[in-house]
Amino acid sequence: MIDNFRHKGMRRKLVDYLTDKKDITNELVLNAIKNVPRHLFLDSSFLEFAYQDKAFPIGDSQTISSVYTVAFQTELLNVKKNDKILEIGTGSGYQTAVLCEMGAKVFSIERHMNLYKKAKGLLKKLNYFPKLKHGDGYLGIKEDSPFDKILVTCGATELPPELINQLKIGGFIVIPIGHEEQMMTVIVKHADGILKKIEYENFKFVPFLRNKK
Ligand code: SAH
Repeated sequence: MIDNFRHKGMRRKLVDYLTDKKDITNELVLNAIKNVPRHLFLDSSFLEFAYQDKAFPIGDSQTISSVYTVAFQTELLNVKKNDKILEIGTGSGYQTAVLCEMGAKVFSIERHMNLYKKAKGLLKKLNYFPKLKHGDGYLGIKEDSPFDKILVTCGATELPPELINQLKIGGFIVIPIGHEEQMMTVIVKHADGILKKIEYENFKFVPFLRNKK
């Protein structure tokens, strides 16, 4: 679990890249990316890949999202300290760590037992304390709802109704929706159940799967 000056230097370059080339401007997001040791969320032999802007395999046919995807989704979330945020798709735990680093109260669900266990161990070692759950993200976490914000980090073909139920009024969900590619979508929940949708650019996520192992 080493995080040395070389890793820190690589992260500073990554932050410069996100600012200069990708128009990420939110200081809290950039600061979290600067502080979270992304290389520890990948197998140790893939150090170089951790600090390139690419998605990368993390086992069980899943991937850690590219750093730009993480930065873009996190910027859309407009995280405030103590926000109660539900993440669907813990995966490596990297996005979870970024949200914790920003001072959010994070809840995250992963359907793969291996990934769930691995992320749980690593996040604890790094002194992040989200509430992690092994299960189907489609159902959210009713007992901990309502949430200020919900972040889906796998590609959905539709909006899961239970997730909307678990949002506060005025809260919103950031969710990539589509089949081959997914359009990053923000859906705000207004009073009387009115939903307002804003669409952004296309991304490619691993699928949001239901009730399968
Ligand atoms: N946030 C992760 C991204 C991982 S990729 C990271 O930073 O590494 C998306 C993850 O969503 C995968 O781990 C996949 O197993 C998970 N996933 C897909 N469908 C799911 C579901 N129904 N419930 C919970 N997790 C799901």
